This record gives sequence, structure tokens and C-alpha cells, in this order.
Amino acid sequence: MARVVIVGAGTFGASLAWHLAGGGDDVVLIDQFEPGDPRATSGGETRLIRCAHGPDADYAAMARRARTLWRELEAETGTDLLTECGVSWFAHRDDGWEAASAQTLHALDIPAERQDVADAARRFPSLNGADLTWVLHEPEAGVLRAAHAVRALAQAATERGARIVHGRAAPDGDRVVLEGDVYEADRVVWSCGGWLATLFPAVVQLRVTLQQLFFYDGGPGWERAPAWIDYDRAVYGTGDLHDLGVKCAWDEEGPPLDPDAPLPDATPQTEALMRGYVAERFPALAAAPLKGTRTCRYELTADSEFLAAEHDGVWLVGGGSGHGFKHGPALAERVIAAWDGGEPLPARFGLHRRERGTSLRTAGSNL
Ligand SMILES: Cc1cc2nc3c(=O)[nH]c(=O)nc-3n(C[C@H](O)[C@H](O)[C@H](O)COP(=O)(O)OP(=O)(O)OC[C@H]3O[C@@H](n4cnc5c(N)ncnc54)[C@H](O)[C@@H]3O)c2cc1C
Repeated sequence: MARVVIVGAGTFGASLAWHLAGGGDDVVLIDQFEPGDPRATSGGETRLIRCAHGPDADYAAMARRARTLWRELEAETGTDLLTECGVSWFAHRDDGWEAASAQTLHALDIPAERQDVADAARRFPSLNGADLTWVLHEPEAGVLRAAHAVRALAQAATERGARIVHGRAAPDGDRVVLEGDVYEADRVVWSCGGWLATLFPAVVQLRVTLQQLFFYDGGPGWERAPAWIDYDRAVYGTGDLHDLGVKCAWDEEGPPLDPDAPLPDATPQTEALMRGYVAERFPALAAAPLKGTRTCRYELTADSEFLAAEHDGVWLVGGGSGHGFKHGPALAERVIAAWDGGEPLPARFGLHRRERGTSLRTAGSNL
């Protein structure tokens, strides 16, 4: 039995705690907030789970594995976390991200259908696909209830024997200092989302940005619509799930925002941009009342690859880059396997200097 201290109970840290406690380790999970707090990136209401990652088979397979693990968590906790509404990718060309995704998903035997635009339009109460060439539909993709899922992970971890401790921790070599107490362990993990770069500035570079979400009251029909992604235009959304309204989000990188700064309100300028897109893409929503807005933070690596590597005797896990939520339980499983002498983590999760690359989140135009 190993003693493990994990600082940060977002999707990555809580997933690690869940797996490790299940394996019989002595786990302490520390967070300054309650799991699912909206100030953490994992604290939003909904997050997409999709397997398509362009030509990248590793992320595709990891997302597929994560789907199985989320289902296991649902069974263990008696919760309903994953709505399998499908995800439709709006393709603007025959040789883009969606085509590469389709090829990769087929090779991995992950369900994905090529639809013509008229067929795809039938899944939505309204869809203008005049600028689209085709649609890639992932029928087994969908939407996770993010904050609920993180709470379920933390709860299940405690039921497996982990201990949750509240407070703001600081590193001291390979030890964790928390309000005067010092924690020593066989392994220490810092999975601190947007705070990781502040805690380890010499080795972690992250851009922490403000992102804005808009929810429209679209009327009936939207509760059955798939989630959707317009990768080339960096926009995504969901149907009206859990009575939140039709979610639409601009996925371009927002302005910088300190991890400790209060989350400001969404701006009328971004709402106007969003409304312009929505009116064009889903004409029936052109005049739909705005039901709500949310803001949250991305913690972005330059290349949108995750970060999971050892540094001076502790492990750093994060860099979710706007697409990390779904992968939490599967990335945690890989980290633990690597510790146990299994497959090493890929070099691209390392602490090297990152260069800007193709976006693995839903922001193809944000290069
Ligand atoms: C608007 C938005 C939409 C997104 N959409 C998707 C999506 O559709 N699909 C998807 O898969 N992903 C999506 N993401 C990305 C995903 O939510 C993140 O990649 C993921 O939640 C990051 O998890 P994390 O565990 O690294 O960080 P966090 O959830 O931020 O957790 C880090 C935790 O560490 C704690 N912490 C930090 N420092 C300390 C300290 N010193 N002491 C104690 N505690 C500390 C914090 O309190 C926090 O709880 C989205 C993100 C946003 C903001």
C-alpha cells in the first residue's frame, strides 16, 4: 500500500484518487474548494465527451476508455452522469479534421457515421448547413454532467477509503505544506488546473483564459438534439440538457485571467458574436431569449496536449486545454499504470517547451 497525496480535486486529481483508493492505497485528496466548485475548470455543468481527435488515435482511444470508466462510476455511485445524445461535427471540407477523425475512429472500431447535410439537419429543430460539405456523427458521444461527475468521483474515492482535506497547499520539495501541517508520501501529485503554472513556474507554462458560454431558450425539440461542433469556426454547443437551455460557446482563446481573480460576467460583445453565429447556423434560435450565461477558465498548453510528468520527485498533471474533462479517469489510469511499470506516458505529455500546434479542443480556427 502506497501513501499518496493529491493536491487538486478536479477531473484529473479526483480520478487519480478514485483509482488509487480502489487499488488499496492510502490516499489524501486536498483541495482549496469543494469538488465541483465553479472556480475550478471541472466545475461547469456540462462538458462534451467525444472520441474524434482528427488523426490522433491516442486521444481517441483514451476518450473511448474514459467513456467506459464514466459508466463504471455511474454504476458504482448510482448517478446519471453521461447523456449519450451523440455529437455531430460540421465539416466544411472533405479533407479536414472530420475526415481524419472518421478514418481514425473507423480504424479503432469506434462508432462514427458520415451523414449528408440534409440527413444531419433532421436531428436538429433547425440547422442551416449551406456552408457545410458533410457531417460526422458520433452516436455514442455525448455530454457529461461535469460538476456532478467530479463530486461523484470524490465521493466514490472516499467510500473506497480516501480522505479529503480542505485548504490551500504549497509545495516544499517533495512534501506538501497545508496551513502549517506537512504531508509526506510515497507519491505526491499536483493536479491544480490553472494554478499549476503559479505553483511550478519554472517548468509549467499555461495560459489561463476567460471563456464565455451562452444558453438560449430554444423551445421544444432541443432536448433531443445532439451536441455539435463546428471545428473550423471554433464554435460548439449542446441541445437543451437538464433544462439549462441550448448551450453555445465560442471556443477561440479568451483574454488572460488570473486563476485567483473572480470570474467576470459574460460580455455583450461576445453575446453579439455568438448570436450572429447562432442566427446563421440555427435560424430558429435567431430571436430565442438568452436564458443564461456562464464564464469559466481554460488552462492552455501551447500545443493543447496534456501534461503528466514527474518533476523533482513530485508528479504534475494538468494542461487540460479546454478538452481535458472527459479524459480524467482514463488519463489517471494511464498515469498509475506508468508508475506501476506499465506503458510509459508519451513524451508529448512532458515538461518540454511546447510549440503551438493543431488544436485538440474544438477550435480548429484558433491556430
Ligand atoms: C467553458 C469550458 C468548456 C469546456 N468544455 C470541455 C468539454 O466539452 N469537454 C472536455 O473534455 N473538457 C472541456 N473543458 C476542459 C476541462 O473542463 C478541463 O480540461 C478540466 O476540467 C481540467 O481539470 P483539472 O483537474 O486539471 O483542473 P480543475 O478542475 O481546475 O481542478 C484543479 C483543482 O485544484 C485545486 N487547487 C489548485 N491549487 C491548489 C492549491 N494550492 N491547494 C489546494 N487546491 C488547489 C483547485 O481548487 C481545483 O479544484 C472545458 C473547460 C471550460 C472552462
